[in-house]
Amino acid sequence: MTKLSGKTALVTGGSRGIGEAIVRRLVADGATVFFTYNSGADKAQALVQELSANSASSSTVVALQANVADADSVAALFKAVTAQSARIDILVNNAGITKDGLILRMSETDWDSVMDTNLKGVFFCCKAVAKIMMGQRYGRIINIGSVVGVIGNPGQVNYVSSKAGLMGLTKSLAKELSSRNILVNCVAPGYINTEMTEKLTDEQKKKIQESIPLGRTAEPSEIASVVAFLASDDATYITGQTLSVDGGIAM
Ligand code: NAP
Repeated sequence: MTKLSGKTALVTGGSRGIGEAIVRRLVADGATVFFTYNSGADKAQALVQELSANSASSSTVVALQANVADADSVAALFKAVTAQSARIDILVNNAGITKDGLILRMSETDWDSVMDTNLKGVFFCCKAVAKIMMGQRYGRIINIGSVVGVIGNPGQVNYVSSKAGLMGLTKSLAKELSSRNILVNCVAPGYINTEMTEKLTDEQKKKIQESIPLGRTAEPSEIASVVAFLASDDATYITGQTLSVDGGIAM
C-alpha cells in the first residue's frame, strides 16, 4: 500500500519537464495517472510505455492529447478521463508556456497565448474538475505557479501576470470548495532544469544562480515531491496556500 494507492490523478503537460516528474512520482506513489500532452505525442507515448513496463504496482498510466487553452479540447479531455475512471481525486494544473519580451516589444498575441494557456487553461480544468470533486466530496487541486509570480521579473509581464493570477485563483477556489473537502493549493517553483529554462542565455543563468540562497537550480523531482505531499493524506489541513519551492529566492 503506497501513499496514493486507490487515487486517480490528472496532470496537464505531463509529457516532459516538471509535469513528467510529477507523473513519475504520482505513479511511484501508487496513483492511477492520466496526463496530457499538447504536441509531443511521441514523448508522451514513450513515457506511458516506460512506466507501464516498470510499474511494480498496479498503477495505470494514460496519455491524452489536449490543448488546455481551448475549451472544447478540455471538455473532450474530461469526457475521455471520466469514460475510463469514475473518480478524479487529484488535478495538477502544470501545463504552461513562456513568450518573453520587454513590454514595448511584446505583442498582443504573446500576451494572449501565455494568459490563455497558463491562466484560462487552469480555469477550464478547475471548472470541469470542480463538478466531479464536489460530487465525490473529495479533491486536491494543485496549481503550478512560479517564483516570478511572487516577486516579479522584467521581460515577463505576460507570464508573471498569469502566475500571479493563479495565486488569486487558488485562494478564491479554495474558499469556494472548502466545504466539499476539496483543497486547492499552488506550488511556486524557482528555477528548475527543464526545456523552459534551457532557453535562457548563459548570462541570465549566471545571474539567476547568484540570486538563489541555496546556490543552485533544482531538478524537476524536487517539485514533484512537494506536489505528491500536497496530494497525500499527509496534507489534510493546507488549503489556499502558495508554497514556494525555490531554494530561498522568495522569503
Ligand atoms: P516545459 O518543459 O516547457 O513543459 C511544458 C509542458 O506543458 C509540456 O508537457 C507541454 O506539452 C505542455 N503544454 C504546453 N502548452 C500546452 C497547452 N496549450 N495545452 C496543454 N499542454 C501544454 O515546462 P516546465 O519547465 O516543465 O514547466 C512546467 C510548469 O512549471 C509550467 O506551468 C511553468 O510555468 C512552471 N514553472 C517552471 C519553472 C522552470 O524553471 N522550469 C519555474 C517556475 C514555474 P507538449 O510538450 O506536448 O507541447
